[in-house]
Amino acid sequence: MIRERARPVAGRRGAITIALANQKGGVGKTTSAVSLSVALAAGGYRVLLVDIDPQGNATSSLGIEKTDLERTIYDLLVGDAAADLIAIPTGRERLKLLPSAPELAGAEVELVSMSARESRLKSGLDAIRNDFDLIFIDCPPSLGLITVNALTASDLVLVPIQCEFLALEGVGQLITTIDLVRRQLNPSLDIIGVLMTMYDGRTRLSQHVVNEVRNYFPERIFREVIPRSVRLAEAPSYGQAIIEYDGPSRGAVAYRAVAAELLERLGLPPMIPVQAANEDRNQNIAGLAAAAAGTGGDAFQEGAAQ
Ligand code: ATP
Ligand code: MG
Repeated sequence: MIRERARPVAGRRGAITIALANQKGGVGKTTSAVSLSVALAAGGYRVLLVDIDPQGNATSSLGIEKTDLERTIYDLLVGDAAADLIAIPTGRERLKLLPSAPELAGAEVELVSMSARESRLKSGLDAIRNDFDLIFIDCPPSLGLITVNALTASDLVLVPIQCEFLALEGVGQLITTIDLVRRQLNPSLDIIGVLMTMYDGRTRLSQHVVNEVRNYFPERIFREVIPRSVRLAEAPSYGQAIIEYDGPSRGAVAYRAVAAELLERLGLPPMIPVQAANEDRNQNIAGLAAAAAGTGGDAFQEGAAQ
């Protein structure tokens, strides 16, 4: 048993809500949302992960079968279903999920003619905000109405940026959208941080991109960067977050460090260490998975100098 969080979020009513947004595809939004949610729940926080991407990758990354779902975030956005009826347990202590499903793709169009179309997610989440300490929203790779709903419902935005050529392309457009939402819908919206993902210490490009982004966001960039790691890419196919799939791996260590840095930035107490018994279980699972995959570790990372 992991202890309940020792210290409540002082002087605050309701969860702090953080959208993971970048309209560029495949930059690590879902991996970051899932890894941070699982790490922080294991560390004692009550977390809700909101999968608002029609691809439903956060839902399946947690090992949840999309076809078995009775209700999804679609029913909240387009219907009037209450969030507490949609939120499902994930098999992890303190972590719940508002799951997504493919029909959400239609919501982008259906929302256009609806009243309060930008704030439907916010209204839905308001009803359950007090049940959680932190809410993470995994956005789709677009700046349409779904992402606008996520930004309107959030206190903060976390922007994952992949360490690749033209990494900053499109970031200006994202900032413009955040500014628009701030001016018209959500005056206190701010960027909590920019997270560099898929860093490959063997290439000059990765370091160059980190430097470039650091010049652009000197205050906002997270100290920790996420390494490119085969283990991180494998974990979702086992329905596990990296800290469950391979706790000691570089990716897991990095995401735990980002979770700690995030708490620091939010002025929240540090995580409670995951109990040893829990780690044993995860190591066993990781061991079995590695044996099945015919790999003993993070082969891709060997020799990486990050
Ligand atoms: P989308 O825009 O399609 O929603 P995304 O921004 O959510 O994508 P992810 O799904 O998290 O990005 O990551 C894209 C792909 O890269 C996935 O297959 C994921 O497993 C893999 N991946 C994510 N982070 C890493 C990493 N640090 N190292 C290696 N692979 C990674
Ligand atoms: Mg995604």
